[in-house]
Amino acid sequence: MTFEVFHKDGNARTGVLHTVHGDVETPVFAPVATNATVRFVPHVFLHDMGYRMILSNTFHLLLKPGEDVIRSFGGLHRFMSWSGAILTDSGGFQVFSLPHRKITDEGVEFRSPIDGSLIFLTPERATEFQELLGSDIAMVLDVCMNPYEAEDEIWRSVDRTLKWAVRCKEVHTRSDQALFGIVQGGISEKLRQYSAEETVRIGFDGYAVGGLSVGETIEETLAMLDVVLPILPEDKPRYFMGLGTPELILESVERGIDIFDCVYPTRVGRHGTAMTWTGRLNVKSAVYRMDPRPVDEKCDCYTCKNFSRGYIHHLFNRKEALGMILLSIHNLYFMNQFVRKIRDAIQEGRFQDFKQEFLSSTSLEVSK
Ligand SMILES: [Zn+2]
Repeated sequence: MTFEVFHKDGNARTGVLHTVHGDVETPVFAPVATNATVRFVPHVFLHDMGYRMILSNTFHLLLKPGEDVIRSFGGLHRFMSWSGAILTDSGGFQVFSLPHRKITDEGVEFRSPIDGSLIFLTPERATEFQELLGSDIAMVLDVCMNPYEAEDEIWRSVDRTLKWAVRCKEVHTRSDQALFGIVQGGISEKLRQYSAEETVRIGFDGYAVGGLSVGETIEETLAMLDVVLPILPEDKPRYFMGLGTPELILESVERGIDIFDCVYPTRVGRHGTAMTWTGRLNVKSAVYRMDPRPVDEKCDCYTCKNFSRGYIHHLFNRKEALGMILLSIHNLYFMNQFVRKIRDAIQEGRFQDFKQEFLSSTSLEVSK
């Protein structure tokens, strides 16, 4: 994978990731395909909407279908029939969210939430499995911490993440797969700075900011980006892991982030919330029962071109899967249009105007 920066507007930038599975324009939002599927959205819709990269979760794929199945299919692209680029996380975030996991310098031991079997994930195993998956971008195994943990605990997680990053790099062999380092450090400026400097010193194809957008305040998130981003090399892609709300994407792009992923658009869609150019709209609200208008009058996605708020309200009322499908499609369409407009604005040198217009037009929620 190679990366080119095309335009800069302040610190915001557009570029392209060249992968063996095609080019991906940045800033990019990658939908999350946890179990090798973006829930409720067939691949053809993703492709037609313009998505060229998705994210899949190493942790989930390691549990099911497991290494033997992925090996027999010759990798994740063939297994799930996705021809675009794939980004895989390392499993760190999910493992550290489990209640009973044991971390040592060697790795992390946990019980499979599916069948209770004991699994030992090491930096080597996380890297080897991502090579088996054949993702275009792989991540190092990192130690994720609650940002409000005591500073010596956060310090230990930063130190361990750096040692594990070295081990991941040592066993990584695939030249057609990029390996990204991950900056940790909770909400400590000092630790974030140290983590960023040392990760850059090890040297990776790209850099991710991890362990943020996990419950800290927006001010704390942005303060950490302000510390980390100036340390990361200009010519490498930068990825904010797990961030997918439009407001924070704008703030992060402004500071120089290129890649985002999040379950947010599909998750809120499955719960009846549409993301629109005028705010968030809850189609389950009774006010939409007889509303013949599309979910978003400014949207030309499959859902908005064909269906009314009243019909989708009815589908949610009857708990029909199609309601969840239609809103997942709409929200992903919205997100792709959103990052596309961000790219256009950067290219035309009007990113600040776009940001202010977007924030003022969506400052009022459409409905509760
Ligand atoms: Zn739509």
